[in-house]
Amino acid sequence: MLPSYEEFSRRAAAIQALIADACAGAGRRHDEVELLAVTKMHPVAAAEYAARYGLRAVGENRVQEGVEKRARTTAALRWELIGHLQSNKAKLAAQHFDRVQSVDSEKLLNHLDRAAADAGKVLPILVQINAGNDPAKFGADLAEAPALVELALTKTSLRVDGLMTIAPLGGTDAETAAHAERTFANLRTLRDELAARLGVPLRELSMGMTGDLLAAVKAGSTLVRVGTALFGSREKPPAG
Ligand SMILES: *Cc1c(COP(=O)(O)O)cnc(C)c1O
Repeated sequence: MLPSYEEFSRRAAAIQALIADACAGAGRRHDEVELLAVTKMHPVAAAEYAARYGLRAVGENRVQEGVEKRARTTAALRWELIGHLQSNKAKLAAQHFDRVQSVDSEKLLNHLDRAAADAGKVLPILVQINAGNDPAKFGADLAEAPALVELALTKTSLRVDGLMTIAPLGGTDAETAAHAERTFANLRTLRDELAARLGVPLRELSMGMTGDLLAAVKAGSTLVRVGTALFGSREKPPAG
């Protein structure tokens, strides 16, 4: 169940205040960090709340779900794909999303570049990195990331805005927190190295979710992807 808009707006304001505090503590300007509302598994009204509050973008993790919701609202929003993307859905994703954050293979790069060209657009992307070396996560390994980013930069119908990662889960709370810090530091270091060596800004560091957003902002996140803290828990899909 979605909260009321009033409840949502209180939560959004509280998260913005947390981000602002974390930025102040890290010597960063708080407008360097955007709050991306993750609306997956919530009704289209969740996206409309985000727009009404003044957030500029929402994140969806399934292509079909995002396409359907986008068609049902006129809210002025950017729609970002944050979930794993299979090559056979690249065409649909390139047509209907404003940015794809989950680009993690050469094959997917090739499909998205062709699909964006066919759609007559330049598609912004982030390269997803498994910066926490988590066997359960998608994303390019840290070792193969430089070659993948270099290849992405050669694609004329893609625009590489930066990098994205998801911190590993599991272990005690303290272990999870330590893993998250290491993961975010790895992504930041990788970005700084690549930006210096390749002479491109790779400005965007999409990292941090409800459970680890403060650590992410400290480590240099420019985009925190928050679902649960804004909209409450997601309904489990029916079994089978
Ligand atoms: C679901 C999801 C989020 C949001 O997670 P919360 O814990 O609900 O804030 C962020 N990023 C990705 C890639 C997701 O799939």
